[in-house]
Amino acid sequence: MIYVLGDKNIKSNIALIGKANELAKKFDNIVKIIFIDDKVRDYQKGYKVDETILIKTREGNLYDYEIYSKNLLSIIDEKVDLIIFPSNEVYREIAAILSIRLNSTLLTEATDLRVEENKLIGMRPSIGGDSFSEFTFKDRPYLITSKSLVYSDESTKLENYNIDEININNEKRAYDIEEVINFEQKVKDIKDADIIFAGGRGLLGEENFKELRKLASFYNGSVAGSRPTVDQGYIKVTEQVGQTGSFVKPNVYLAFGISGAIQHIAGMKDSKKIIVINNNKSSNIFKFADYAIVADANSIIRNMINILQREANS
Ligand SMILES: Cc1cc2nc3c(=O)[nH]c(=O)nc-3n(C[C@H](O)[C@H](O)[C@H](O)COP(=O)(O)OP(=O)(O)OC[C@H]3O[C@@H](n4cnc5c(N)ncnc54)[C@H](O)[C@@H]3O)c2cc1C
Repeated sequence: MIYVLGDKNIKSNIALIGKANELAKKFDNIVKIIFIDDKVRDYQKGYKVDETILIKTREGNLYDYEIYSKNLLSIIDEKVDLIIFPSNEVYREIAAILSIRLNSTLLTEATDLRVEENKLIGMRPSIGGDSFSEFTFKDRPYLITSKSLVYSDESTKLENYNIDEININNEKRAYDIEEVINFEQKVKDIKDADIIFAGGRGLLGEENFKELRKLASFYNGSVAGSRPTVDQGYIKVTEQVGQTGSFVKPNVYLAFGISGAIQHIAGMKDSKKIIVINNNKSSNIFKFADYAIVADANSIIRNMINILQREANS
């Protein structure tokens, strides 16, 4: 049996289920998708799976690693061969906990899975993304986290589907909740952003990313970047755009000092308008630009901030 953990990101659900269905054919297996908490009800879109399970926790939508992992452990039995988690803050944590408690192998950030001689082989980028490594697994169930898996199975939707609800009532938090305070998030997640200011290696340093954030704040925009800028620690992993990051579709995507490698383009090419600022006019990203500026990215950022500040003060 293969379990896929459902996320609010429908694209991610479809990719993970697509791969799970592909593997299931080879393993003569069945695929189930599990959602935890009602909050995700809107995302249960009738995927092509053998069963959709909704685990309802007593306290509704408050994430608690202990409750989530205990609930999942209670439905994992010896029939489960593989569990695929979306790679987000919640499920990266849950996958790690389950791996310890089940004494199972966890492969993080997998980009592909295949079966060879009845063995599951996982693939993930290594050495800063310049090569791939392949892994085999020892102890079932095999655990995988992934942002997106390459899949060939056309995961069409089911017209009619049932949701099996499981109510877990014996959960107990290790602490009491006195008050829940919801912070209004000013900066939108890049997946929901209307305008994205993305920086690449061409910005040349952390200080310049601070300036990029300042510029973005004038437009209530979100900051994103290419993978090397995550590796350098200039932006958060949740802000990475591309094949192993997020796929974004803002109204405006401004790319400062990004070369336009295919892995990056995959994540931003569907933006409505793309503005490119790069000092090398042969950079690949210009092929995708609606507006192209051949210039030093940091000068453009600083000049824009100066103009906007002057306007704000006048
Ligand atoms: C399996 C795999 C997955 C990957 N996933 C991703 C992913 O999800 N997202 C991602 O982004 N990458 C990903 N990569 C890495 C990708 O291949 C590229 O290496 C990366 O996108 C390059 O980042 P960059 O454009 O910031 O840097 P570079 O390629 O180094 O480009 C820097 C650019 O800045 C320009 N520049 C330099 N100085 C200035 C200046 N002063 N002003 C203006 N422009 C300037 C240069 O002309 C150049 O075009 C992945 C790679 C692999 C192998």
